[in-house]
Amino acid sequence: MFNNLSDRLESAFKNLKGEARISELNIANTVKDIRRALLDADVNYKIAKEFTDKVKSKATGEKVINAISPGQLMVKIVQDELTELMGGTEASFETNANPTIVLIAGLQGSGKTTFSGKLSNYLKTKKGKRPLLVAADIYRPAAIDQLHVLGEQVGVDVYSERENKDAVAIAKNALAYAKEHAKNVIIIDTAGRLAVDEVMMTEVANIKNAINPNEILFVVDSMTGQDAVNTAKAFNDRLDFSGVVLTKLDGDTRGGAALSIKYTVNKPIKFVSSGEKLDTLDVFYPDRMAQRILG
Ligand code: GDP
Repeated sequence: MFNNLSDRLESAFKNLKGEARISELNIANTVKDIRRALLDADVNYKIAKEFTDKVKSKATGEKVINAISPGQLMVKIVQDELTELMGGTEASFETNANPTIVLIAGLQGSGKTTFSGKLSNYLKTKKGKRPLLVAADIYRPAAIDQLHVLGEQVGVDVYSERENKDAVAIAKNALAYAKEHAKNVIIIDTAGRLAVDEVMMTEVANIKNAINPNEILFVVDSMTGQDAVNTAKAFNDRLDFSGVVLTKLDGDTRGGAALSIKYTVNKPIKFVSSGEKLDTLDVFYPDRMAQRILG
């Protein structure tokens, strides 16, 4: 994960190896290399610049500390800043409400349905919940089938209405069904499109208004870099979502989405998904991710 970014940062710190103290010059060179590494990972220019300005001012302020080597000090500063950039501390995920309603939104192919299956499995096995999965995609029958298959795999009931072309009504009916069947978490997988469009946005906003979810998770493919960030902005403007799910971290992804989304929409990444196996769902910890990036 983020191998190229990790390699580039590691080589940025090499400049400082063997230096007894930090000088203005070696800070400047290292910071320049860090900025290039971030840009290369598809972090946008403004974020990369602000990030490295902060690193620079912290490093400059700490040049008197000579208890540890300049290289280690710089790594520590960058690690702290990466953690901060990705949200600082772990974000909470609401599951105490009864029922807890979770709305899942995102583009087609982002990994929404797979994630919905993983989340239901996680809540069932790790949190002792009784989840219900809801297929609210009225355009693609295959999406409904896919959710049923996933539900069967994880042993979670799936609610769908194949003939109903009103996604809001399906969501409302699903809530009534959940109440009747004593389900305490309702995960609603909504329709996705290949690009942000007005019909999709209106539909998912209408579902939101009708059922007042406790969590709205925006699912996004981490491989799409700055596009992921732009899509996040479009969805957040309409939905004011509560958190982000970054998928496909098992692929050859550069890191830009993970590093830029919190900054851009001011919403935390709550989960990451890496792989298609349904029993692996990772809560997102900014500090652990920063540590991984720095190897
Ligand atoms: P949806 O259209 O948003 O519901 O997306 P799907 O859940 O159907 O996922 C689209 C494709 O991406 C499918 O082929 C999934 O198997 C695959 N996929 C989903 N999540 C991941 C992931 O974390 N890693 C990888 N490698 N593939 C994934």
